[in-house]
Amino acid sequence: MLLQHGEEVSNCLHPEFNKLDESCSECGAVCYRVIVISGTVGRSRQLSLCGKHFIEALQKYPEMNHRQAS
Ligand SMILES: [Zn+2]
Repeated sequence: MLLQHGEEVSNCLHPEFNKLDESCSECGAVCYRVIVISGTVGRSRQLSLCGKHFIEALQKYPEMNHRQAS
């Protein structure tokens, strides 16, 4: 769903920290977390997710748990 080959989640941000006013990239609901994805070529991208899709991503990529901002 989220990650392409060679990519990994490098960070999870509260949207307030980034001053982002974004909606979920999957469904357009209110953004709950912004995850930062880094690829093998050194480029990173950010993905905004609502609570539902963030939890789905956590279940699919459990390593995200270790990257969460506390
Ligand atoms: Zn969503």
